[in-house]
Amino acid sequence: MTRITYYNGEFGDFRDIKIPLTDRSIFFGDAIYDAAVGKDGNIYLEDRHIERFFSNAKKLNIPINISKSELSRLLHEVADKSGFAEYFIYFQLSRFSEERIHSYTECNKSNLLITVKEHKTKPIYETVRLISEEDIRYGMCDIKTVNLLPAVLASKRAETAGCDECVFYKGNTVTECAHSNIFIVKDGEVFTHPLTNRILPGITRGRVLEFCRELDIPCYEEEFSLSDMLSSDEVLISSTSK
Ligand code: PLP
Repeated sequence: MTRITYYNGEFGDFRDIKIPLTDRSIFFGDAIYDAAVGKDGNIYLEDRHIERFFSNAKKLNIPINISKSELSRLLHEVADKSGFAEYFIYFQLSRFSEERIHSYTECNKSNLLITVKEHKTKPIYETVRLISEEDIRYGMCDIKTVNLLPAVLASKRAETAGCDECVFYKGNTVTECAHSNIFIVKDGEVFTHPLTNRILPGITRGRVLEFCRELDIPCYEEEFSLSDMLSSDEVLISSTSK
């Protein structure tokens, strides 16, 4: 089994693929990405991940030169070539390659990176430990870009504290976690932050809400506070990899 990686038409081992310094993801984080899990030839909720990827590229005016079905074919090709029964597949689109200039040159090219690693989904009832801290991220949290420094630092602080995730709050409102969405359950009702520029529209978040509706569990996309969270009956976090 190898971690096959794709970059602009070339396939190679994860460690061997070369990305030029001119790729705008390097100096500016000028790139969007998505990530999904797959098993035995199926990528879970694949269409939704691809849809979000295309919609994020559009929001940032990053051209995509392949169709959704071609992207799907490439994702499966990378996964199949790697040979993992269960895997995490990551795909990233950066805006073109050029000298380091802030105001990008208008161009119809972009760089596509796809990589994969072995992955085992955790049991859904596993207990998680959380820390919380002020959400210092910027106003484009609804777009899945590679600008993840606050999330990286918060994840490290959570790990150092022996925890699994960091809950972000803005003022008194809980937004989401460093790399998950968050729900609380109170008296049989489920609450999660509404879709605004403050949170990522998580694919799993959407699926959890659908499950609630299918099961007639009352669920609300409404803001809740830190004290609501602390007095809730249950806190759930959701993400593709979990
Ligand atoms: N929120 C943030 C900030 C994330 O980084 C992620 C996943 O990486 C999520 C939520 C969960 O999104 P999804 O369910 O699409 O994996």
